[in-house]
Amino acid sequence: MPLLAPLLLLLLLLAAGCGAQPVTTPPATSPVTTPPSTSSEPPPPGERRARATVRVPYAVSGRYAVVRGGAPPGPGPGPVVRYLVEVERGLPFDPRTFASDVHRTLNDERGWGRFRRVDHPPVRVRVALSSPRLTRRQCLPLRTGGKLSCWNGTRSVINALRWAKGVPQYDGRLTDYRHYLISHEVGHALGHGHRSCPGPGRLAPVMAQQSKSLGGCRPNPWPFPGRKFRERDQTKDRRR
Ligand SMILES: [Zn+2]
Repeated sequence: MPLLAPLLLLLLLLAAGCGAQPVTTPPATSPVTTPPSTSSEPPPPGERRARATVRVPYAVSGRYAVVRGGAPPGPGPGPVVRYLVEVERGLPFDPRTFASDVHRTLNDERGWGRFRRVDHPPVRVRVALSSPRLTRRQCLPLRTGGKLSCWNGTRSVINALRWAKGVPQYDGRLTDYRHYLISHEVGHALGHGHRSCPGPGRLAPVMAQQSKSLGGCRPNPWPFPGRKFRERDQTKDRRR
């Protein structure tokens, strides 16, 4: 049965999330049926097109290129984290677009804080868009199965496959899932460990392994989801 091996692999991979710990061999179980993904809110047409058209090869060059240039941190009083963005050469993503998506996520009012993008060390974080094969190498000894992303002590390794396709539990909201990927893997870089869902129907903590399972929570890409507009309003107040 030619389809059996890919199906088993898929089921195995679905059982895993962001690789913060080596994945142990899953116990033998009876055949699993995957529930159909239902969505009450269809994704915006642009997102659907993005998912349908980007094909991510398993392996490309294996070499990163730092995205040149920089971007200033968002407004506010907090400390500024210097970081850089790398994209593996040969991936089907525009490096500048990826870098600006990352920058927007990190400096969002609901994000971790203030980040200045630079193109040379010293930096605290490297955010690296990586093919599945390079992700696998970068994340060892964590097992990513070619699908997960990780923090490896130097890099927030973002698996281009998930960047392109998201996960079913985000119901097609690819932009939100991308915010989650960046927030979560940079969260590790800032010293945050994993958390679990605090209760059914609550917002998942950003450091929950949401790629693996929401555990009864609702998807949430942000470290501080309640902060929306608050800081922007304060900034306006200060300008008055
Ligand atoms: Zn993690």
